[in-house]
Amino acid sequence: MNDLQFFGHIIDNEEVESIDGRRFDVWNPWTREVWAQAAEASEKDAERAVVSARKAFDEGPWPRMGRVERAVMIHRLADLMEERADDLARLDSTNMAKPFAQAKHDVARSVWNFRFFADHQRDAVGEVYPMDSGHHTYSEFGPAGVVAAISPWNFPLMMASWKIAPAIAWGNTCIIKPSEDTPASVTMLGRLAVEAGFPPGVLNVVNGYGASAGAALTGDDRVDRVTFTGSSTTGKHVMASAATHLAPVSLELGGKGANVVFEDADLDNAVYWAVEAIFRNAGQICLAGSRLFVHSSIYETFMERFVAAAEALAIGDPFDPATRFSSLASRRHFDKVVSYVESAEALGGRIRTGGVAEDGSWVVRPTIIDGLALDAAPYCEEIFGPVCVVNPFDTEDEVVHLANDTRYGLNAMLFTENLSRAHRVASRLRAGTVWVNCFFIRDLRTPFGGVGDSGVGREGGNFSREFFTEPKAVVMQI
Ligand code: NAD
Repeated sequence: MNDLQFFGHIIDNEEVESIDGRRFDVWNPWTREVWAQAAEASEKDAERAVVSARKAFDEGPWPRMGRVERAVMIHRLADLMEERADDLARLDSTNMAKPFAQAKHDVARSVWNFRFFADHQRDAVGEVYPMDSGHHTYSEFGPAGVVAAISPWNFPLMMASWKIAPAIAWGNTCIIKPSEDTPASVTMLGRLAVEAGFPPGVLNVVNGYGASAGAALTGDDRVDRVTFTGSSTTGKHVMASAATHLAPVSLELGGKGANVVFEDADLDNAVYWAVEAIFRNAGQICLAGSRLFVHSSIYETFMERFVAAAEALAIGDPFDPATRFSSLASRRHFDKVVSYVESAEALGGRIRTGGVAEDGSWVVRPTIIDGLALDAAPYCEEIFGPVCVVNPFDTEDEVVHLANDTRYGLNAMLFTENLSRAHRVASRLRAGTVWVNCFFIRDLRTPFGGVGDSGVGREGGNFSREFFTEPKAVVMQI
């Protein structure tokens, strides 16, 4: 066990063990071996991080630093991430079997998150209103305080960066708790922040489980904001816990994205994105296009091509450059996805391709199922794996109703060459993001978030500023 890597907590710029010395195993889901250990935080360790972040906010230089100086420091962290991009990507690939090229892409997007929010706060303009009464009023956006950020395992570095970057850019101090399944890259990010010269307590990393360390952070009344990405069920616990001390929450939760292919779609493009939308990251994407609706006039033509493209995805070792698709991120998650796939046929579904690999690995092959009833669990519930359920439709009204008939509302996609229809349908879809003839493209200035069980609040650009600051009106008699 001695050659295992170790990921401690980063508290007050020190990498430390837990107070009680507890650790947990970190798995490589492709080799199905333990490759590292991480410190397992108790409530006391979480508290230690809160005290550090609180002190850094109340007494340290970070919230009082000039905007340019803070931006320079965040860019320095981004530079270090760029220099060490291979190492960061290797950690995510090892930790959750993400194909290495995709992990590199995630690192690049994480770097961009830091650069964007550093510049966004540096260059932000305020509002000033001369009032008819002779007064003069303006808005000020001061930091909110201590931010507790809790992130999932599917994009370990990227999801964390999406929370940390705006939080610290706006002058807050932060505690991030990555998922217990993927502690590695976020711990390395914490080490890089120390190397970049961040003052102690600005970015703390706490490793451990949700019910203990996570709940201790969200329920601590010294925390001023809680930003959470994870499942809808956990999101409800997080909201209730934050409510005990009235901390505003931002919740990015689950999804069951509708992907609509109209009869006039560019089929090459629609098939390409349908595959990306459900099989990228082995379908472990909140934004996955997991419910596909195809116009009945092109249904069989589309399905033939979609099935062929799914079967052409090279499955294998995440470090093999040819690999496009690898195993699921953990044994627990594999078991969950398998249970949905195994129930599908009994519920009337037809497995057009895919299924469980049955070779002892934690691979579920790219799976396409049609014929499921609209109340069947694999159709309604978030599987969070490489499982696409497909249904035909005939009219625009029908498909809008089908797409919106879900508790979730994170995102939707539609494929059509008809411009009027694209605008019309995009506007009618109940979702935080709608992609037309594409998927997964994002401009950080626009709102990101979900409707219904997919979340509470929006982040991105000024939406992040609203959440991570305490906006204030100042009124002056001239
Ligand atoms: P999860 O809810 O099980 O865990 C997410 C995080 O919450 C982990 O760090 C976990 O330790 C922590 N946690 C668990 N219980 C907690 C508690 N009581 N208090 C505080 N923290 C707690 O989710 P997961 O399995 O890690 O991630 C998959 C889910 O995340 C999917 O539903 C997916 O759709 C969603 N997700 C959403 C987005 C989005 O932007 N909307 C992005 C990625 C993932």
